[in-house]
Amino acid sequence: INELYEYIIIAWGAIMLMFVSTSMVFLLINLKKTKRSEQNLMAINDVLSVKSAELELISQHDELTGLLNRTGLKSKMIECLDKKQYPLTVVMIDVDFFKKINDTFGHQKGDTVLSNLGGLLKEFVQDEESVSRFGGEEFIVLMPEKSIEDVMDRLDRLRLQIQDTDMDIDQDVTASFGLASSQEYAGIKNLIDCADSALYQAKQEGRNCIRISH
Ligand code: GH3
Ligand code: MG
Ligand code: MG
Repeated sequence: INELYEYIIIAWGAIMLMFVSTSMVFLLINLKKTKRSEQNLMAINDVLSVKSAELELISQHDELTGLLNRTGLKSKMIECLDKKQYPLTVVMIDVDFFKKINDTFGHQKGDTVLSNLGGLLKEFVQDEESVSRFGGEEFIVLMPEKSIEDVMDRLDRLRLQIQDTDMDIDQDVTASFGLASSQEYAGIKNLIDCADSALYQAKQEGRNCIRISH
């Protein structure tokens, strides 16, 4: 009878051992699977982060000139206001008689003028300044922590540079400038509207000149 007990205990032990080892094998397989899916998820997450950064970049830039677009400008303006970077100067630049350039040389040459001008503006900005294409042939330069007096000479040199640069058409290209500046929070729309009124004045007073909003 003792022998029978021994057999039963050994058999029970063997069954338990088999059960535990099979469970261990299953556990290990599952652990590996979980690790693999975790790694896969991390890889997918990396790809998604890169893609979302790319999309953000595309959504904030203008395809023709490579400059910031309106969305990009808005982000920059919000950043300037958040950081209280006053005085904040906004420069609106609009190509003179651009419709005539399109009519005379064709829309494609018009595009070339815009991308050449975009190149000039990109070279012009320094420090924390930024430049965006606000609309068709309108650009905005954002100049944080700079007053109009600080930037007037540079802007007038830019105006002359635009006039003197070969824009790939058989004609000089000129632009008019409208400036607005604020010493304290004034709101994005308000500041842009003021620059726009100054630009309107520049157009009224003969174009290829700079006017300031008061
Ligand atoms: P002003 O001196 O008063 O600014 O006159 P303007 O002719 O420059 O202004 P207007 O607003 O009458 O014309 C702007 C033109 O710009 C009209 C539009 O067809 C053209 N335009 C807008 N976007 C583009 C673009 O992406 N490429 C080209 N080639 N032309 C564009
Ligand atoms: Mg315009
Ligand atoms: Mg124009």
